[in-house]
Amino acid sequence: MSAYSFVLQNIFLPCHNLVRGRHYVGRRRFLEESQWWSPDELEAFQWREATALLRHAWKCVPYYRKKFEQAGLRPQDIRGWADWRRLPTLTREEINANRKELCAEGYADKLSPHATGGSSGVPTRFYITELSYDWRTAATQRAYGWTGCTLGERAVYLWGAPIGELRLLQALKTKAYEFVQRQLIFNTFSQDDQLWVRIHERTLRYKPRLIVGYVSSLLQFARFLKQTGRELPGVKAVIAAAEPVYTAAREEIEAGLHAPLFNTYGAREFKSIAAECELRDGLHINSENILLETSDPRPEAVSELLITDLHNYGMPFIRYRIGDLGALDPSPCACGRGLPRIRSIEGRVLDMLRTADGRIIPGEFFPHLLKDIPEVRAYQVEQKSLDHIIVSAVLFAPLSDKSAALLDREIKKVCGPELKIELKPVAQIPRLASGKQRVTVGLDHHAGKN
Ligand SMILES: [Zn+2]
Repeated sequence: MSAYSFVLQNIFLPCHNLVRGRHYVGRRRFLEESQWWSPDELEAFQWREATALLRHAWKCVPYYRKKFEQAGLRPQDIRGWADWRRLPTLTREEINANRKELCAEGYADKLSPHATGGSSGVPTRFYITELSYDWRTAATQRAYGWTGCTLGERAVYLWGAPIGELRLLQALKTKAYEFVQRQLIFNTFSQDDQLWVRIHERTLRYKPRLIVGYVSSLLQFARFLKQTGRELPGVKAVIAAAEPVYTAAREEIEAGLHAPLFNTYGAREFKSIAAECELRDGLHINSENILLETSDPRPEAVSELLITDLHNYGMPFIRYRIGDLGALDPSPCACGRGLPRIRSIEGRVLDMLRTADGRIIPGEFFPHLLKDIPEVRAYQVEQKSLDHIIVSAVLFAPLSDKSAALLDREIKKVCGPELKIELKPVAQIPRLASGKQRVTVGLDHHAGKN
């Protein structure tokens, strides 16, 4: 461990947590130990946390009380996992329609707002508590640690940028956080060779040990490095996020960056859900914080995933239908961790878009943008030609001038000023045969390439 990592982990963060009354350090220490518990011990812990959450939801969250009553269930009726599976599930649409009633009584001053553009095209706005934030950050950092890189080692992110203009204080806080954590973040929403040249030059000087990015951004960067004969020495690991990683993409990224790729599965609603350990043989579920079930009672069958966040008491998510499919792997991992594993996550279908001047826009840009347009209930982005994009949207209300201007400005900023953007209000977004909604449809899709 470098001197900087040691000071950050053992002096700076514990002092910060003590002064600010935060729980990251405590949760991280706990998670470092609990990952080695046996599967039975972990399950017993999950059961205690899940039933405590259920009692809390019944007592303090009006929406759940009503919902459980309608289902004829009370917390004392839930005596085992078979009973748990009788609890009703929660959808994004329900959250959007009942946001206030889903917040726990007495938590109004403990909630901070968050939003997601929705991997299935339905933006969702929700609240989390500080304690939940600390749990999820600790779990995310533990998973990053499985790559062999530790907190405080330099990391480069091929990521997006915040939408709209940040207020100065917010921007300064973000910069200070990135500086302390030693993170260098690049906005990869608008990709061309100049961007990759700039990222390569800065990254060479920065000398990161870890590169984190959207799969599509990592792939384009790796291709650029290979095609131009450039190298990035010293990178120890690559973390892929936000999209499924297929074998061909994994091989290309590893060949371009000369480092092993670690797949992760997460969502804005929960941060880290699962991640690969050093053996990279399925993704370990972060099961001390997340209860992940399959809708099919046979866990090894591919079916819809349901997620319960065990520690967000401010706005509990119980059996939330995240919109992805997956299957659980009950066999133990050779690494010795007791955390169960998930395989074959299917979902998050995001095509990339192209512009007339040769730029590539990762599909992730649109959920990222549309989460900030409050009138949008569901959407699909379709590229008709190099200079024409249609945003089909089911709207709660007509777009305000502010939202229309934000949408226009942010899309032009990323896709260029020549692009014609047509907002088309629709009653419904068509679904794929799998039942999933396709969030972005690129030109390659029309050409039958995917
Ligand atoms: Zn493992």
